[in-house]
Order: sequence, then structure tokens, then C-alpha cells
Amino acid sequence: MVNNMPKHISSGLKYIAAVELKSKGLSHKEIADELDLDRSTVSHYLNGRNLTWDSIDVANTIVNMCPKDFLSMMQVLFKDIDKIRTMTLILKSEEYKTIVSKSCIGCGLCVDLCVMKAIKLDSLKAKIEADLCCGCLICEEECPTRSIRILEVNK
Ligand code: SF4
Ligand code: SF4
Repeated sequence: MVNNMPKHISSGLKYIAAVELKSKGLSHKEIADELDLDRSTVSHYLNGRNLTWDSIDVANTIVNMCPKDFLSMMQVLFKDIDKIRTMTLILKSEEYKTIVSKSCIGCGLCVDLCVMKAIKLDSLKAKIEADLCCGCLICEEECPTRSIRILEVNK
């Protein structure tokens, strides 16, 4: 039973993601494509079948974690990096303003550390695509020259 928990939790997370995408007007097919599920599974999820409320509760707890802890949990539950990025962008809706100061030395450490692949080097300076940033702050914490600031945008 305990060994099945990660699968139940990941199903709970996919359920929440499917509901979120449905609320944005996506069709069952589009949701299935986005989440890499078959359409019948999406229908089951959206009709509340094949899931326990416990797994949805646990998934909601994970969604409400701070971005860094959330990302760590996602890496435990989903091995595929593209799936982690897709699910994170659906489930974490906060927006961030990203600032790279002139002190950046272009070492590329932040590029390697960013799970969301939001950072590239451009003319030997880090450039962050804010739309892809989930606010984990790993780049800000690890930058050797303290050149990055990630600020949550209050909507
Ligand atoms: S880790 Fe810091 S210094 Fe290195 S590329 Fe990123 S922002 Fe620039
Ligand atoms: S905070 Fe930094 S490391 Fe984290 S997702 Fe945003 S750009 Fe990437």
C-alpha cells in the first residue's frame, strides 16, 4: 500500500492539473495531449473516478508548498523532466519578475541548475525567461556573484 503512494499522489496532481486546464477552456483531447494521458483517463479524472480524496488532499498539500519544495517533490514523483516542467507551469500560477545585474560573469551555473530551463546565456550574461520561472530561487541562492533577483509579482 505504502509503495503505491507515489502513483496515487501523481494521479492526484494530474487530476488537479486536468481541472485547472479544463477551467481554462481546454478540451478533453487538449488536456490529454498536454498531460500525456489518454482521453478516457482524462474523462475519469474529470468525473471524479479512479481517485481517492486522500490522494487529492495530498496533491493539494504539495501544490501549496513553496516553489522550491514543490519542485523537489515533483522530481521525486515524476522522473521525466519535460513532464515536471509542464506540470509545474500548470500547477504553480504565480508570476515572477526576474532581474540579472551587471555583476553576472556568465559562468553558466544558474543555467545548469534551473530545472525549468528558464535561463540561457546571451552574450555571456544570464537571461531569464520569466514566463518559465516557477520561483524556486535556486539560481538566486547559488549565483556566486549574487547577480539574480527573483521577485513575485502581486496580481
Ligand atoms: S550563476 Fe550568476 S554569475 Fe553565473 S551566469 Fe548565472 S547569474 Fe551570471
Ligand atoms: S527561480 Fe531561478 S532556478 Fe528557479 S525556476 Fe526561476 S529562473 Fe529557474
